[in-house]
Amino acid sequence: MQVTFVGTGDAFGSGGRAHTCLRLDHGGRALMIDFGAGSIIGWRRLGFSFNQIDGLLITHLHGDHFGGLPFLLLEAQFVDPRDKPLPIYGPPGLRSRLAMAMEAFFPGTTGIKWRFPWEIHEIAPPSRETIAGFDVRTMEVVHASGAPATAVRVQAGGKTFAFSGDTAWTDALLDVSADADLMVCECHSMAPKAPGHMDWPRLRENLPRIGARRLMITHMGPEVLANLDTIRAESGLDAAYDGLVVEI
Ligand SMILES: [Zn+2]
Repeated sequence: MQVTFVGTGDAFGSGGRAHTCLRLDHGGRALMIDFGAGSIIGWRRLGFSFNQIDGLLITHLHGDHFGGLPFLLLEAQFVDPRDKPLPIYGPPGLRSRLAMAMEAFFPGTTGIKWRFPWEIHEIAPPSRETIAGFDVRTMEVVHASGAPATAVRVQAGGKTFAFSGDTAWTDALLDVSADADLMVCECHSMAPKAPGHMDWPRLRENLPRIGARRLMITHMGPEVLANLDTIRAESGLDAAYDGLVVEI
């Protein structure tokens, strides 16, 4: 499985990074996880086409994780025309929140005749689905977003990828990451600060409990970005960055 980090920024684009977006490729099919309002910049930078995407999974309903969907859908309608179906999976509430975002950003677009079929699948955690050939499990985490927020565990070709989504520490992350080949965990601050987000001391104290073979951090705020050398020295952990490709 190939993991491409399209966007590794926090909600405010700290460090000039694009909003959260991951692309997983396996067996000629591609699954995209999250697509924030500013993810399309990272997507363009990598020269990707939405026609390459076979399925889409949204971890939670915050603008920096799903707010780019109106742009993606309109791009596939008008700019780089798509004709194959696009299944979009996400937490309960995705359908109405996406409709609100589309009408707020581009009024009238919920009523247009689409040139490609796309459909919303609202999946309540814990759930297990096959999306674009990937075995996907979601588990609820601790992050208020007006709907359940999830971490995800994705398996294909005998490999396992885990992603925390946005969350404060929860033992659900132990289940999500057990024996994973790669776990990507958010780490937003150097001290407890923003509710519903991970801070480095909390993640560091739980590192011995995490069963993933490799762990990387993402969604870093400015303090974490300024302390990446310290984090590496304390733990050996790497931070993801926009454009990074990892084979697992
Ligand atoms: Zn969030």
